[in-house]
Amino acid sequence: MKARNPIIIANWKLNGDIDLLCKSVASFIRKYFKADVVVCPPYIYLREMLSFLQYSSVAIGSQNVSKFESGAYTGETSAQMLKEAGCKYCLIGHSERRSMFRENNQSCNIKVKSALDSELKPVLCIGENAEERDAGVTRDVLFRQLSEGLEGIEFNGDDILVAYEPVWAIGTGNAASADNAEEVHCFIRKEIKALFGRDVAEKVRILYGGSVNKTNAALLLEQKNIDGLLVGGASLDPSHFMEICQVAD
Ligand code: PEP
Repeated sequence: MKARNPIIIANWKLNGDIDLLCKSVASFIRKYFKADVVVCPPYIYLREMLSFLQYSSVAIGSQNVSKFESGAYTGETSAQMLKEAGCKYCLIGHSERRSMFRENNQSCNIKVKSALDSELKPVLCIGENAEERDAGVTRDVLFRQLSEGLEGIEFNGDDILVAYEPVWAIGTGNAASADNAEEVHCFIRKEIKALFGRDVAEKVRILYGGSVNKTNAALLLEQKNIDGLLVGGASLDPSHFMEICQVAD
């Protein structure tokens, strides 16, 4: 029995269509998981997905959120709009957003605050890239992403989640080993304890993401400090994703 309820999040990225949406919701009908299961499809599918998920415990989340509340920001979607669309969670600072859309710790910080103001649970994504890993600065990078991303935030432990996603493992088929991921998760929990105190550190759920599949999911989830998984590629195959959810359940 895990100390914290496991959570599995699917990140479809810019993938999927109505056909995938139908197959995916069909696999969830009348599935009531003990673990939290969340799907983050592209924005355009959120409402439709939710409408089909009423006979299931699966929740929806967004892959991003605007740092603005409203106004002349063409193409943006606010936290309040996501809340109204039925989202419970919202990914913030995914490495693809950081590397391709110039997001940084400061914009992530604003987004985390905005999500919390709208009662969405932010999932703050952090992780080092291959150069940073090779230069031996993984811990410095993670500490900055955590401390700056969560600066000035009142954190009670279960309102924010952290996803450790080493950039070198995302979409490469080269997942971190369970031992390596556990060691980093332990470090992240220790830093959260230093920043926010023991209670918060004991409650916060820290997910691992990066080439998770049905073969490595069990071993990753067995680790004491790995409380869940963020799944990209493997979540685009409903039966594969279901197998990962069942491992957590
Ligand atoms: C992700 O995009 O968050 C991710 C973990 O992708 P993948 O599982 O494909 O590595």
